[in-house]
Amino acid sequence: MKDSLKYFEFFFQSLCREIGEDSGREGLKETPKRVMESFANLLGGYRQNPKELLGATFKDGVCDEMVIAKGIEFYSMCEHHLLPFFGSIDIGYIPDKYIAGLSSLVRVVEAYAQRLQIQESLTEQIAQCLLEELHPKGVIVVCRARHLCMSMRGVRKNPEIITSALRGLFKSDSKTRAEFMQLVK
Ligand SMILES: [Zn+2]
Repeated sequence: MKDSLKYFEFFFQSLCREIGEDSGREGLKETPKRVMESFANLLGGYRQNPKELLGATFKDGVCDEMVIAKGIEFYSMCEHHLLPFFGSIDIGYIPDKYIAGLSSLVRVVEAYAQRLQIQESLTEQIAQCLLEELHPKGVIVVCRARHLCMSMRGVRKNPEIITSALRGLFKSDSKTRAEFMQLVK
């Protein structure tokens, strides 16, 4: 951390010189250290194992009704611009033999969101994790987000970006998909 802080200070000083700011002034003196610490925090997802967090448990007996977690809030970091994108995620799955704790779905979203991401990968990774750990009959993940790299930079119009990842029944059966859409509406 010590060496990286030195490099980051160097980067920060060069940036300030570039934009015409004085990196030595009072308010900025501690900034590189603060930014490093805050980034380590905001990008703490690398230290988490989402598959472990999901804690799949074997469910004896039949359970094939759709399980839905709607409106899971998330904050992530665009890997192209190091600016936040954030919004909400809806998850649906149809269990076969395994189920996940409901709060663990939230933790899985957080573990993937707190990394350098693009929205498409975030959506895919969550779906893939559920698929591999729960072996469900189907999984769907729908992610809605706004990107500060769009609203703060040139592109001032800031549309909501929607991405989705579908597996199993949600992909093959339009009725199942429609049922989910109806329930999260
Ligand atoms: Zn971006």
